[in-house]
Amino acid sequence: VGLLAGRLALVTGAGSGIGKAVCQVFAKEGATVAVVDLHADTANSTLETLPKGDHQAFGADVSCSASVNDLIGQLKDKFSAVPTVTVNSAGITRDKLMLKMSEEDFDEVIRVNLKGTYLVNQAVGRALVESKAKSGSIINISSISGKVGNVGQTNYAASKAGVVGLTKTVAKEMGRFGIRVNAILPGFIETPMTDKVPDHLIQMTKMLIPLSRLGKPEEIANACLFLASDHSSYVTGTTLEVAGGLFP
Ligand code: NAD
Repeated sequence: VGLLAGRLALVTGAGSGIGKAVCQVFAKEGATVAVVDLHADTANSTLETLPKGDHQAFGADVSCSASVNDLIGQLKDKFSAVPTVTVNSAGITRDKLMLKMSEEDFDEVIRVNLKGTYLVNQAVGRALVESKAKSGSIINISSISGKVGNVGQTNYAASKAGVVGLTKTVAKEMGRFGIRVNAILPGFIETPMTDKVPDHLIQMTKMLIPLSRLGKPEEIANACLFLASDHSSYVTGTTLEVAGGLFP
């Protein structure tokens, strides 16, 4: 029972924050979850929080095509199935003002956030088409930063705007296979990614948020649930802002 009963869901960046919450919500809704993070131990720590099921943890680097292809192979071996639901939540920040940013910090963020999202969309897309599944939902986690920009985030905002363009294109290419592809733009969400933001900046941001508070990882996970489930069966190529009204 549940909105995702019987489905295999692949979640990247699942060892922490939003990805971890997505695993918990999806497992509660009946999905079998492939919990993926850069290191297997962090993926395992999320796995331990899930309700009973055939869920499994994997270590994989989304920015490396060999690692991503190996992961899809492992899923086929372990579950005899390809994931009909995928959430790309793996992501990093390397914040610096543009005038001070190194080429390495720019490249690294583009590599993980944009290329990593591309590689997983491609690998899952190929596997779904080969399996003749005829349905699937891919959810890419972008950011409000990619829409409006954010001081110190030329690399990150560019990667997240790139994820939107990628999402809309993959949706156009994969629609004829019954595969839906959408992006979520979270606002300011309380996770390990944002827990070092200085308090005065948090107070300033709160004043800009109509709902007057930061978001919780579960609130992004619930939006993912909508896009993963049949409740969004006619929704593809779109972006959903989950930001408490920040910068609509
Ligand atoms: P987080 O740092 O808590 O979790 C990110 C996870 O991604 C970590 O577990 C990390 O190990 C994993 N990861 C990093 N590089 C990886 C790689 N190469 N391969 C596989 N896994 C890798 O961050 P979060 O706040 O949960 O963010 C999740 C997603 O949401 C990210 O894409 C982030 O950019 C996006 N986002 C977050 C916020 C926010 O306010 N927290 C806002 C907008 C968008």
